[in-house]
Amino acid sequence: MAGKSKPKIFLIKDKKTKVQQLEFDRLSVSLRHLPESLSRITITCPFCRTVFGPDWFKKHELSMAPVKPKFERKGVEYTGPKRWILPQAPQKCPKCGANVMIDLPVNKMRTKGSLFGDDAERNYQNKKVSIYSLIGTDQSLLPEFENKIKGVKQKLFPSIPPNSWKIHMKDMWAGCSRKKHPVYKNLSFDDVISFVNELLVLIKKSNLFIYNIASTTVQKNTGNRKVQNELRNEIYILLVLNAIDEWTTKNAQPNIFFDSEKNSQANVIIHGWARDTFKGSQYSLLYGFLSKGIEIPEPIFVPPASSPGLEVADFVSFAIARYYLRMWQGKEIKINPKDMGLVTYLGYDDNGDLVCRRQEGYPWDQFVY
Ligand SMILES: [Zn+2]
Repeated sequence: MAGKSKPKIFLIKDKKTKVQQLEFDRLSVSLRHLPESLSRITITCPFCRTVFGPDWFKKHELSMAPVKPKFERKGVEYTGPKRWILPQAPQKCPKCGANVMIDLPVNKMRTKGSLFGDDAERNYQNKKVSIYSLIGTDQSLLPEFENKIKGVKQKLFPSIPPNSWKIHMKDMWAGCSRKKHPVYKNLSFDDVISFVNELLVLIKKSNLFIYNIASTTVQKNTGNRKVQNELRNEIYILLVLNAIDEWTTKNAQPNIFFDSEKNSQANVIIHGWARDTFKGSQYSLLYGFLSKGIEIPEPIFVPPASSPGLEVADFVSFAIARYYLRMWQGKEIKINPKDMGLVTYLGYDDNGDLVCRRQEGYPWDQFVY
């Protein structure tokens, strides 16, 4: 330790301001699934020797997210890289009630990257599937990936600047919407098929991180708005946290952008439910283990298809939502998720447990549908 300066110890005031208290009271932890890798972790109480599992989903008084210093010096906002990281969190022994500290994993951030997200839904008879996808890559590979997407777009319409139109698969695929579209109207179905195949090849070759979650519901549950919103919040945060866990394991910080669906003049559109779901999750011990001391910027919602990555996320969500529909209908699969290469698929089995599979091709037989 000689030569190294002693770490400074800061005491965090546990008294929240009125505004902080209001936010804290509003937030809740909407997590109930534990990754298998964490299910083996136990704590031994030093006082009564009881061995117990941490309470992963309990809402703690303190957020597990790193804290940025507010000021550089008086009146000057701090913009540097320093963060305060929570090294330990308390867990109550179920037998003697003592507070036992558990160490949180701390990984160093060595790189950054971007992940782009989009959603999709399909209905069939009395069933509905809700899909979220995230696709992304390290920041060093992003410009090349974006250029390749532009190249594929340019090939479809050589005389139109690729930035002036967007990939929106729902409009491109269905003949009736294609005919009405200002750009797609002269495309034949064969043109669309060859465009889709080029995109699939590009996605597979680019070795992207691709995450997808699907959840199916039956009609009697979809009528209830509250149940629907809870389900949306759950699959959203499960997908986001799954990506965060993998990226922080690789010492990377993901910057997450979702398609806002709504057009807006603003560059960032606030979705209150997404913000609250993300912030709420940060009060759980699970968040501390998944984020590993790496600061994760809150996922932001940006104007539709405002970057090439979002256009690819639209394609991935479309492809998997359509896969569900075609499987339900017993019809031929024209866009096979297998052709996208390795994807992390999340879904539920018939016990309602979350299943995670990283593979080529959709794990249809392992999820409930
Ligand atoms: Zn004890």
